[in-house]
Amino acid sequence: MKTLKDYEKELSKCSKCGQCQVACPIYKLTKNDCTVSRGKFIMLHGVTQGELKLSKNINKYLDMCLKCGKCSDFCPAGIDALEIITCAKQEYMKTTFLSKIINFFQSKLVFSNFIKIGELIFRHSEQGLLRNKTLGMTECEESSYITKENCLSVMYFKGCVNKVLPDSDKYLKKIFEKSDIEIITPDFDCCGLPFLSEGNLERFEQSAKTNIANLNTSYDYLVTDCASCESTLLSYKKYFDCNITSEKLLNWGDIIALKDLKFEFKHPLKVTFHKPCHLKNDSFFEKIIQNCTNVEYIKMNDYDECCGFAGSFALKNRGLSKEISKNKALNIRNTNADYVITSCPACILGLKQGLFLTGNKKTKVVSLLEFLSIADKVY
Ligand code: SF4
Ligand code: SF4
Repeated sequence: MKTLKDYEKELSKCSKCGQCQVACPIYKLTKNDCTVSRGKFIMLHGVTQGELKLSKNINKYLDMCLKCGKCSDFCPAGIDALEIITCAKQEYMKTTFLSKIINFFQSKLVFSNFIKIGELIFRHSEQGLLRNKTLGMTECEESSYITKENCLSVMYFKGCVNKVLPDSDKYLKKIFEKSDIEIITPDFDCCGLPFLSEGNLERFEQSAKTNIANLNTSYDYLVTDCASCESTLLSYKKYFDCNITSEKLLNWGDIIALKDLKFEFKHPLKVTFHKPCHLKNDSFFEKIIQNCTNVEYIKMNDYDECCGFAGSFALKNRGLSKEISKNKALNIRNTNADYVITSCPACILGLKQGLFLTGNKKTKVVSLLEFLSIADKVY
């Protein structure tokens, strides 16, 4: 793993052009240069030169980041802001006592037990029972998994949120019931994003290595329905020897579009789509909607702007998180959609936050899989 000093040359590539300010959702609200990569790089360059100390104040600005990567997409110098911010975060956290507490809660044993407890609570909650009824499935059906003629072998990276909210299994079962897809679900660890965000690179390395080892078998595609997991899995090759490529790693939406599945809805529905910042390609969405009868797609303004959640960002920056979610929700309201569809469990929380804050009780927030599973007929 690199140290901040190793990024000295990269940091000095910043020409202070300010292109990142145009793209950064945080800068748009704060107008404070320290909250966008340009300002962060000036501070971190000062640290590498020994002119500044990696202080609590600088850490505050490191945390004021959605990790959306939009600044890097616009950066003419091609600087990878996320890699540098993660490295700086790690170096700062190493100097604090808080990191010992966080590392304890993120250790494999404690973290995986939290996920198991969350899953147990959900399974026994009223919400879980109601959702089972909605899908018309029983616990017994849930265990008979989707194995057909093995035409396409798909490795499913569920992600931690989907482990806690196991309905994604049922949605998949309903959608792919008549499809020739074999779904393999090895015991993956967390993708590692929560560890990266807290600068816990040791734990990130542990989870990444477990996941890479699980991929050491034959499969056609590695598939997820969490855009954050997707981007983290793709980032492994920056740190480790691994062959996860964007050709091999897909979203469930890509598979549904590839199989050209058709969905029949009895009643007319209006839908809109939120593109998660971490979703690399959303071309599947319009293809799928064209294959849905009785569904009208209304594209919202700024459909690819952040939802404002971004994991621990929402906890550390409540005011900013709410402001970004509200702006998103206003664009949703203008579509008058019955459903806002997305493909990231964290975005679902950000979208719900925005709808709650703007008093929108009409629009339901759903994952793509959940939406398609309510179709009356799949063929
Ligand atoms: S990653 Fe996103 S929020 Fe963070 S500095 Fe870049 S554009 Fe701003
Ligand atoms: S876009 Fe890149 S080069 Fe320009 S100010 Fe931002 S970080 Fe620096």
